[in-house]
Amino acid sequence: MAEMIYKTLGKTGLKVSVIGFGASPLGAEFGRVDPEEARRTVDRALDFGINYFDVAPYYGRTLAESRLGEFLEGKRHRVILTSKACRYDVADFDFSARRVMRSLEESLKRLRTDHVDLYQIHDVEYGRIDQVLTETIPAMVRLKEQGKVRFVGITGYPLTPLRKIAESADIDTILTYCRYNLMDTTMDDILTPVARQKGIGLINASPLHMRVLTDKGAPAWHPAPKPVFEVAREAARLCREHDTTISNLAMQFALAHKDVAVTLVGMSKVHHVEANVRIVGTKADPELLAKVLEMIKPVANICWKEGLAENDDPGAVDKRTLGMERSEEIKKKTGK
Ligand code: NAD
Repeated sequence: MAEMIYKTLGKTGLKVSVIGFGASPLGAEFGRVDPEEARRTVDRALDFGINYFDVAPYYGRTLAESRLGEFLEGKRHRVILTSKACRYDVADFDFSARRVMRSLEESLKRLRTDHVDLYQIHDVEYGRIDQVLTETIPAMVRLKEQGKVRFVGITGYPLTPLRKIAESADIDTILTYCRYNLMDTTMDDILTPVARQKGIGLINASPLHMRVLTDKGAPAWHPAPKPVFEVAREAARLCREHDTTISNLAMQFALAHKDVAVTLVGMSKVHHVEANVRIVGTKADPELLAKVLEMIKPVANICWKEGLAENDDPGAVDKRTLGMERSEEIKKKTGK
């Protein structure tokens, strides 16, 4: 098994494993999860030197935080633990300072700790940028001064609001998802230069494009248009013919990014941790990679609308499914 590699997260000084544990699947966001298997998955990740854990109250509507808190009991000191505020359900957002303060107390209880290492605004595109700049970020900075959070960051899907905030606020990290992987590389056009220039830690989430880049394929709620799934299936077949998997190739592609400190992949199964850690320090077969990128070209860099219309990226398309359908689906799965 490959040795874990660590990088420094921007100016925070935190040494983070290049693979970060995305805990959204612990909240059954991708389907039912066996809690004992989930616990073993977290343990296995720790064994392999994964020290970065990403969670949020939104994942499984607090279920992921509660599970992670339970699984990390007695092991908190070994990890860089990050959570988020402001998003609580598909359409439940609150960017007010009061809610941020209360939200942290609730998260700390569920996570069974007295501080988080990084506290992030969850999906800034659902807020008004002026409120985020004048109210939400200052609230987070107050929590930093109180020692309840060590660093402050922003997360989201459209790149334009992330860039605008990064340009005018003093933040430690930016997390974006589905914007740097085999399907979409536009993070580099819009966000990476600002992060590099300001020394902001860059966190890349969803290297598998939220399961599009796996043999299993996308979950029913995935917002991308159908042709994206069809091309990914073709690419997965080609990878199998080359004795590898599309997930391996996607992880190799994402991990090769120089400016990204940590790549967050969602995991709730031991064999996924093993497969992903095995990729660390390996390189993609250049011929296969070139073929897959060529296949993907017609559907590459398609981005969908997420958040307030004023925060849309240029050229974003309407979502394939409605958020409310997803909410019903999750309620059924989790019984919450
Ligand atoms: P992802 O691209 O990491 O895909 C996760 C899915 O792929 C899960 O169903 C998982 O079981 C499966 N998987 C993982 N490894 C695999 C492997 N080797 N082979 C086959 N399947 C595999 O998408 P994600 O989970 O949405 O993103 C990663 C993490 O990033 C999340 O869990 C979350 O912590 C974070 N994230 C944050 C934001 C935000 O803050 N706005 C948004 C998206 C994701």
